[in-house]
Amino acid sequence: MKPLTSLAMLIFLCAVCEGQQDWWMREPIRWLQTNLRETDAALDPPKFIQTVLDFNANVFLMAMGGISAFYPSQVEYHYVSPSIPKGHDTFGEVLKQAHARGIRVIGRFDFSKARKDAYDAHPEWFFKRANGQPAIYNDTYQACVNGGWYREKAVEILTEALERYDVDGLFFNMFSNPASDYSGQPLGICQCDNCKRLFRARFGRDLPERPDADYQVFLHDATVSMSETIRKLIKSKRPSAALVGTSPDIADIVFSESNTAVKRPLPLWPYASSDNVNRARNTYPQKQAINQCQSFVDFPWRFAMVPQEEIRTRLWQNVANGGPAAFNIHGTLEQADRTALEAARPIFAWLKQNEKYFTGQRSEARVLLLGGGARGFHASEAAYRGMFRLLAEEHIPFGTVDNLDWLGKRDVDLVIASGEVPKELQRFVESGGNLIVASSSAPPFDMGKVVKLWKDPDGAYFRIRDKSLFPSLKNTDVTFLYGDYLEVQAPEVKAKAPLTFIPPSMYGPPELVHVDWKDTDAPGLILKPFGKGTVAWFPWNLGALYYLHSSEAHAGLMRDLIDHLLPHGRQLKANAHPLVEVTLMSQGDRRFVHLVNISGHSQTAYFRAVPMSGIEVQVKGAFRSARAIRAGRDLPVTRAGEYAGFTVPSLRDYELVELR
Ligand SMILES: [Zn+2]
Repeated sequence: MKPLTSLAMLIFLCAVCEGQQDWWMREPIRWLQTNLRETDAALDPPKFIQTVLDFNANVFLMAMGGISAFYPSQVEYHYVSPSIPKGHDTFGEVLKQAHARGIRVIGRFDFSKARKDAYDAHPEWFFKRANGQPAIYNDTYQACVNGGWYREKAVEILTEALERYDVDGLFFNMFSNPASDYSGQPLGICQCDNCKRLFRARFGRDLPERPDADYQVFLHDATVSMSETIRKLIKSKRPSAALVGTSPDIADIVFSESNTAVKRPLPLWPYASSDNVNRARNTYPQKQAINQCQSFVDFPWRFAMVPQEEIRTRLWQNVANGGPAAFNIHGTLEQADRTALEAARPIFAWLKQNEKYFTGQRSEARVLLLGGGARGFHASEAAYRGMFRLLAEEHIPFGTVDNLDWLGKRDVDLVIASGEVPKELQRFVESGGNLIVASSSAPPFDMGKVVKLWKDPDGAYFRIRDKSLFPSLKNTDVTFLYGDYLEVQAPEVKAKAPLTFIPPSMYGPPELVHVDWKDTDAPGLILKPFGKGTVAWFPWNLGALYYLHSSEAHAGLMRDLIDHLLPHGRQLKANAHPLVEVTLMSQGDRRFVHLVNISGHSQTAYFRAVPMSGIEVQVKGAFRSARAIRAGRDLPVTRAGEYAGFTVPSLRDYELVELR
């Protein structure tokens, strides 16, 4: 082949490769949503898009239609904002201006509600409460996902919108039937004729009074089928446009939010963005993850901002876990409280200057945590978060996964489960993987015979018997247990259980405290080999206990057990403060170590992060160069065995180290 021909071939192949990757996986993204009110439809498009440009956003989520259309829609009952200046098309003009300036636009629709004229003409399209009345909120009528507003009008509206506008994606707010309204008032189950008929046809009975398991499936499937209709429509009209949404199986871009709410129980979850992005990118590595950092305190106060350091922390966590920076404000960028915008602005500017680092990142973590809480595997939020925090504080690179799609496709040394354990993991262990389970529910493997479930035993302990397994606990012989404990008889491990149960005993008056302590052989940890790997089971909820009480002994148990089950050592070691998050990512053949300093977080406050210095990091691999991108300097690299080491001289809120 002649040189020119090979070059032509190469260009052709590159074009093909590039064509396989959608824009949201290929391009650096700096995402901004201005959640416009219908009165904002009066905005001046060139001036408005200049403010977006000045913010250094390059993907822009803008109100398009549904409750209020921001363009002159012709679809019957599709309410057009009366604030659109006569003869103008606010959305269309903004889209044109944005595209001319290299900004992609995602149109936002909300089909959850419509106006009175639609309800009066077609009450059967709408949500019907148990008392027969519609669900009205500020003169908008809640639609039912099984009704004609979704099934017919939404399709008609989207067809018009997609044919008219060259959008780069669509986002759908509040999809499906909500459990409560914006004020938190429960709506109950929709009792419309469609819901009644469809539920009876499928389950052979009337709709339940409260959502039961069948109803959850019913509503889920209705939402999925509507989402699939929309997906097909988007892909047929605008094949290169992204579907953005919270249903990760259907969306191209998995959407989540880091937000606060005044009535949400404390403690705050300072890892919110890391959690959302880590989870989405590791569960769906072929999809993009937009985790929008909400600027405001709560829905009733959308013009009052959260602390600036909370904004910064969330944005850095997004990029440190392989997602784009994404920020949300309500209304235009002309805000009554500009602190959140001004906190985010320099971060967006820096990310723009350094955008080549922030695309195509993948997690290099070889430790996986099974996702818990409302999504993923069944585990309490506390149990899941306790493990998440513990791994973050230990600087162990880890990925959170809500599914098992990684099995057989990814190099994984260790899996940690804080609740439900899928049976399929037995194969993973047999072929050489290790598994830690911390739960009072027995995993679905032969781990011994259940003797008894101890419910919340006040005054119970574990004795640490194997000090060689737990070097962190040389000054700790016992640690406390609260929460359920499942006593198991495991004859093969009984004699050498590294941790044993001390049942509840007297804890008052002081003269009698634990004078009746009786040690047992009942294991607090069972280690059992399966094939080439090992299952290590704490038959109690270590994660939940750690989340709520942060016992050093519980952290030590996990730390030492993890090291025991990583016989070839950790991927990354760092002497950083526990409140410095460290992630290990790759981009092509280079590795990134991200450091996010969250030491400014205290209880309900976020202050400036405490500056850190002299952070020594060692990463497995034959790296020859390290460069601190934010500081703009090369770092000397040392070699020790399989590790390459470098020292980050100083860390304020964030640093990115590139390894080659
Ligand atoms: Zn209904």
